[in-house]
Order: sequence, then structure tokens, then C-alpha cells
Amino acid sequence: DTTVFKLEPFEDHYDVGDDIGSGHFAVVRKCTHRETQQTFAAKFIRKRRGGGRKGAKMEEIVKEINVLRCVSHPNVISLHEVYDTKLEVILVLELVSGGELFEYISEREALSEEEASAFIKQILEGVKHLHDNSIVHLDLKPENIMLLDQNCTSIKLIDFGLARKISDREDMRAMMGTAEFIAPEVVSYEPLSFATDMWSIGVITYILLSGSSPFLGDTQQETYHNITALNFSFDHDLFKNTSDLAKDFIERLFVKNPRKRASVDDCLNHPWIKPKERRETIARRSAMINIDNFKSFMARKRWRQSMRVVSLCNRLSRSIQLRKSTDTLSSRNTLSSRNTLDEEVSIDFFVTAL
Ligand code: ATP
Repeated sequence: DTTVFKLEPFEDHYDVGDDIGSGHFAVVRKCTHRETQQTFAAKFIRKRRGGGRKGAKMEEIVKEINVLRCVSHPNVISLHEVYDTKLEVILVLELVSGGELFEYISEREALSEEEASAFIKQILEGVKHLHDNSIVHLDLKPENIMLLDQNCTSIKLIDFGLARKISDREDMRAMMGTAEFIAPEVVSYEPLSFATDMWSIGVITYILLSGSSPFLGDTQQETYHNITALNFSFDHDLFKNTSDLAKDFIERLFVKNPRKRASVDDCLNHPWIKPKERRETIARRSAMINIDNFKSFMARKRWRQSMRVVSLCNRLSRSIQLRKSTDTLSSRNTLSSRNTLDEEVSIDFFVTAL
């Protein structure tokens, strides 16, 4: 491993600016290189220490770095340098400032399939670069598909936290990723492969066209069941303006057997991405994505995210309350009625804040 971890203080070289995102164990901040005045995104990954559960394991961080070091493509984020400090590893990444692709689309009044397929093509080109370099992303989902800047529609794939180099020797099986987007082989703990990413591209395309998530159930268990049972359909109301070409593209990705699923090259050659006949070009141009439902999908998603913050606030206030109350409260009943009150207060507070 030849990764150079710089050990001198990060702040000696960079001015650290605003937070621009956060993940499980990472905070991403805008930063400016003092000498060149170039801007970057610095991902501060908290290291796991001792036997604790907080922070990312060093071996996982090194895997992410090693994958990023192998990539160089216009549709994939690039890594500039790495700093190692006592508490964190800092990845200095190319700055992506156009926000999530799905947020951009939700602000459009309409989007033709021709435009939608141009976005999917860029995703495919980024993924082809990964697959050609024996890398699987394993966490392809809308949050990880961003636009380079506000004035252009150039796509960048981010978040290589779960990405892996596929080697012939290693049999890779693991439960990872976000339930809605994972392939049947992930659910059933069978070997993962490049095809695992292709399934997720099918889910992303389905949502983009219809504003509905194909396998999402009321519970995680139900979602897993829908995935393994291949329980999806093109509901007429949602897909009435969708071309048959687009549906065929998706159907080639929702194939349970990973060996029979369309590869990235198959997809790049599919007529929905690369029309061969005039009627295919016309079909794509005249079909539209279901923008109304897409907008409400995004609104529901934002709402779910807000509720997660509320629940986090509640847990926080509960644990503070619990600490304060252990001395004074003797019965559990009294404690739980107090928590209900806290919950109401913080939801009230949050709704007002919204
Ligand atoms: P998760 O826990 O969701 O897997 P993570 O800890 O691996 O996340 P990332 O997904 O890499 O972290 O980054 C978290 C967020 O920071 C992203 O969703 C995105 O909004 C923002 N972000 C990450 N990289 C960049 C970048 N290069 N430029 C701009 N914003 C970025």
C-alpha cells in the first residue's frame, strides 16, 4: 500500500469552511488550499478507537482510499490527498457543488426520457470505469449521485465507503447498502459481483421515471421479501407516459440471477441509452418522466429525513432527561410519562422550526 498519509496538521495547508454534508462517521466540509486557493471537499472520517463502536475501522478507511486512488473519470469523484490525525482521517476530495441529481430534477417542470436517459448514461459511464477497474461500488443510490455544479448537468458518483476491489480469490458476501436499492444476492447473502451494482441502477431508473420505489415495503422485512420474490410491476397510473423501451431497460436489470442480469456494457448499448433506429429516438423524445409523482416522492423523502432528525432529538432529550431523573424518579411509569412530554415538546419545536 503506497497511500501517502500526510501527518502534518491539515489546518497548516487548508482553510476549513462550512459543513456540506455528513454520513455515518464522517463530516464533509468545504475547504480551500491556502497556497493555490483551490477549493475541495474535506471528508473528516472519525477513527474507531479501541473496542468501541463509534467511528470507522482503519481497514475500512484504507479500503475506501485504495479504491479512490484507482479511479480517474469525469463521472467519478477524485481524491486529491489524505491526512492522518490522532482522531480522524481526512480525505481531500474534488468538490462537487451542484447538489443531488434527484433534488435538481425535482425542481424541473418536466423531464423527457431523452434527458433522463442522458443522466443514466453518465451514471453508466462512471460505473463502467469502476467495473473496468475491478471495482464494485455497492452503495449506488440517489444520495450518492451528484451534479458537479449548479450550472451544468455533469454527474459525479460519490461515497466509496462500501466500494471494493473484486479479486478472484475473495468470495465477497455481505449485507450492506440501503434496503430499497440492494440486489437479491445481497439479501440472501450470496456472492456479490459487478451485477450487484447493475440492480441498483435499475432501482434508480425506476424511481426516476415514476417517482415510486419498486420494492419498498412498509417494513425492511417486506422490502427484502419484495426484492427476493421479484415483486414489482409497472403500475399503469405511474407509467402511463413511459416508453416500452425504458421499461425493457429496467426489466433487463431486475433479473434475479446476477449472471443473466444486463452488464454495464449491455446497458450502454441498450436502445434506450443508445437508439439505433429513428423510431427509438422519437419514442424517447416524446415520453416523459412522471414529474408530479417524482416531486411528491422527493417531498416524502425530505419529510422522512426530518422525522429522523426529530427521532434523534427525542432520543437525545430522553437520554439527557434520563440522566437528570435517575436521582429523583423512582418509578418507571413516571419516567415514561415524562418522555412522552419531551417527545411532544421536541416535535412541536421541530414543526415550528420547519
Ligand atoms: P454514509 O454514512 O451515508 O455512507 P459517508 O459517511 O460515507 O456516508 P459520504 O456519503 O461520502 O459519507 O458523504 C456524506 C455527504 O457529504 C454526502 O451525502 C454529500 O452530501 C456530501 N459530500 C460527500 N462528498 C462530497 C464532495 N466531494 N463534494 C461535495 N459534497 C460531498
